[in-house]
Amino acid sequence: MDNAERSRVLVVEDEEAYVDALTVGLTREGFDVSVARTGAEALAVFDECAPDIVLLDLMLPNVSGLDVCRELRSRSSVPIIMVTAKSAEVDTVVGLEVGADDYVTKPYRIRELIARIRALLRRDELIRAETGRTASAPEDVAEEAIVVGDISLDTAKHEVVIRGEEVSLPLKEFELLHYLMANAGRVLTRDALIERIWGYDYVGDTKTLDVHIKRLRAKVEEEPSRPASIVTIRGLGYKFDRQR
Ligand code: CA
Repeated sequence: MDNAERSRVLVVEDEEAYVDALTVGLTREGFDVSVARTGAEALAVFDECAPDIVLLDLMLPNVSGLDVCRELRSRSSVPIIMVTAKSAEVDTVVGLEVGADDYVTKPYRIRELIARIRALLRRDELIRAETGRTASAPEDVAEEAIVVGDISLDTAKHEVVIRGEEVSLPLKEFELLHYLMANAGRVLTRDALIERIWGYDYVGDTKTLDVHIKRLRAKVEEEPSRPASIVTIRGLGYKFDRQR
């Protein structure tokens, strides 16, 4: 890693073969690794080790990965990669909108997984640097609020207010909304959005973008089924409409 400070990955996984392979592979690539084997353990270890990213298996004994994801999301914007056993499960999981940032299907290649971890961490770091969320950042960071229609987004405070109500958004949704609003009135292609939000080396499928757009619409739009703010530009991408 190009950073002297090592990133910590919390691996939530009950299959020993994966635990072993991940611990070896991630450690070799310069990550610190914490392991939890049940959902309940995951929440306890999360509080204890304050990881930079969470790799979360869907099928866990007792508390399911979905519930763990929801619970983590309610207390943190930490990047979460959800791991499913079948690719068909990805559709189910994304449909439930639990707030994961990315998805991988078993069996996966450790190298691909590490590429995704790095991409998410890089984006997270960028956002932190931009918004001054780091502990050492000055308190008086200039406010960078964007207001379009009845939605305002403040990168300095990592805060979104929609029609007078503060809404908490996971990291990727926040970034996506920020990028859309900063370019209000302009058409953004799918490729541009994916590259900007997930990184140029993103290896996942493009469904991830649609899922995040859907989640954002559920929060941003007055009528999510008839979006007026985040408009689909057929065959191209999306646009944040400033005429709303
Ligand atoms: Ca499992």
